[in-house]
Amino acid sequence: MTKIYLDNAATTPLRNEVVNTMIETLQNDFGNPSSTHSFGRSAKTIIETSRKTIAKYLVCQAQELLFTSSATEATNWILRSAVKDLGVAKIITSSIEHHATLYTIQSLEKEFNIEVVYIPILPNGTLDYMVLEKEIETSSVKTLVSLMHVNNETGVILNIEQVGTWCANSKVLFHCDTVQSIGKVSFDLQSIPVDFIVASAHKFHGPKGVGFAYIKKNIVLQPFIFGGEQEKGLRAGTEATHQIAGMAKALELAYIHLEHERSYITMLKEYALEKLKTNFPEVKVNGSDTFYNILNVLLPFSEEKTAFILFNLDIKGIAVSRGSACQSGSIKPSHVLEAFLSENDLKKPSLRISFSHYNTKEEIDLFIEALQVI
Ligand code: PLP
Repeated sequence: MTKIYLDNAATTPLRNEVVNTMIETLQNDFGNPSSTHSFGRSAKTIIETSRKTIAKYLVCQAQELLFTSSATEATNWILRSAVKDLGVAKIITSSIEHHATLYTIQSLEKEFNIEVVYIPILPNGTLDYMVLEKEIETSSVKTLVSLMHVNNETGVILNIEQVGTWCANSKVLFHCDTVQSIGKVSFDLQSIPVDFIVASAHKFHGPKGVGFAYIKKNIVLQPFIFGGEQEKGLRAGTEATHQIAGMAKALELAYIHLEHERSYITMLKEYALEKLKTNFPEVKVNGSDTFYNILNVLLPFSEEKTAFILFNLDIKGIAVSRGSACQSGSIKPSHVLEAFLSENDLKKPSLRISFSHYNTKEEIDLFIEALQVI
């Protein structure tokens, strides 16, 4: 059976060059990066070279990047330390954030009694920017805004420059979850007014279990994990040299091939939407002006099909998603779609189809064929 992977917002296949880099590192550079002998020094060099490579592509300083095990860890660390150590008393966020952000904020709210403001979501899946601007401008206590750049379920894009400018003008800290956009659009962290971003290698054809936090120069967080002196003592634990090397390689390749892959993926998404519209004229797109690799559609199918659609596609070897990966398999509506779809629409099947440069038009044709007989 031909298997078709259209779930690239959940995770992406590794590039061969990334696998090769990781294998070479595992074989040749097994030293503990904290050891002072040559084995340790060569592992340490790989880590620091990787940091410089990532910094070069994001236009920031290498020391502003700290390696973590995931974006979830990076977000937990940043938000917790902002409240505990930087004195943040209020967080402005939205109900459509990833659970890494939402659940961290909820736990901080309970633990530290901070104020949390959720910006309303409009029927097109975007934030109410008027409310957001006012909230930022009128905040009288130390405040942090935590909003994601590209929504992982709908692909709705945040105007990161605008939000960052409002935050900078009001001396409000800005944490942006850039997990879905790093490696897929260019970033110039010297000109985007953002204090913290987080990324995860497995979303840009790198390995799982490694990510990073960007923490703007002069912001001093306290450790989240205590132990050795790794990562300037801020994130203790022996570094996974091969994972870090794989992440840097994946990011480098993502940016080298960015223009070509972006236009190819954009074409694939347009092709898929056109085919969906031709075959299911009542199909609706959830969210407007969405990111080029994510297409979330409401299918004009009966409610009974909602629970089984993913299963039926899966037995045909086709992987798509109903929401974020953590929710698939459950028939609870996605917390993101719940924020802006009507109750009636929520009962119908919505699918998130997310593309990478490895997909083809033929795969989309087979996916549409499979949907026709669901
Ligand atoms: N934020 C967003 C937008 C995501 O899509 C994900 C992954 O699903 C995460 C955070 C969590 O990333 P990680 O897999 O590194 O924990």
